[in-house]
Amino acid sequence: MKFIELTSGSSVKGEIIHAFKSEKSIPEANTKYNYILGAVHGDEVEGAHLAQELFKWLAETSEVDMPVIVVPIVNVDGFKLKTRVNGNGVDLNRNLPSTQWTPEAREAKYFPGVAPLSEPENKYLVSLFEKYPPRFILSFHSWYPVINYNGACKEIADFLTSHNKYPIEADFLTHPTPGSLGEYGPQVLGSPVLTFECPVLSDTVTLESIWKENEEGFKKLFTSKVIETFKS
Ligand SMILES: [Zn+2]
Repeated sequence: MKFIELTSGSSVKGEIIHAFKSEKSIPEANTKYNYILGAVHGDEVEGAHLAQELFKWLAETSEVDMPVIVVPIVNVDGFKLKTRVNGNGVDLNRNLPSTQWTPEAREAKYFPGVAPLSEPENKYLVSLFEKYPPRFILSFHSWYPVINYNGACKEIADFLTSHNKYPIEADFLTHPTPGSLGEYGPQVLGSPVLTFECPVLSDTVTLESIWKENEEGFKKLFTSKVIETFKS
């Protein structure tokens, strides 16, 4: 599937945020897009790696032809500095203008910014969502292996867990995430969001092993078109 690079965004520190759009062979009116996002939290290299591997495969394969937008590294400053937060010390996954956004943070690492959507990385993301409306958003993170879904994409969560055996959580009930994409997507964009939490690196877990245990599930998700046919 051929991708073109879109007009890039810019981070707090002036780094370029790259975004790519598939060139679907048969363009349709009112197209909605499947989004793939990596490294909203800059230090989550495992999730960023999966996003990059998936993107690499999508760009090579001729088996997939669908509207896709990829932002491999959203938090480019955090990725460079190996920090969860962006260049302003803001947790981008607490800074989106959902109805539950709050200026309070349980811990410094969850600092939501001075106002909802205050951060250039999120402004750029929202500008993409406005121009290319999402149908489904897949956001890669790492923490402990869990598939968290918000909105009507349980079908996709079930499909992936049948391959990788990660547990599913519909909501992080014990771990509220005000201003997150999981809230913002279904509420404001009408798009379900799947927050895919990878395991983190350890003596036995490598970037390669994480991709290996997920490769089949993701390739089948896209080639069997579950991602296009699920009822959202
Ligand atoms: Zn994260």
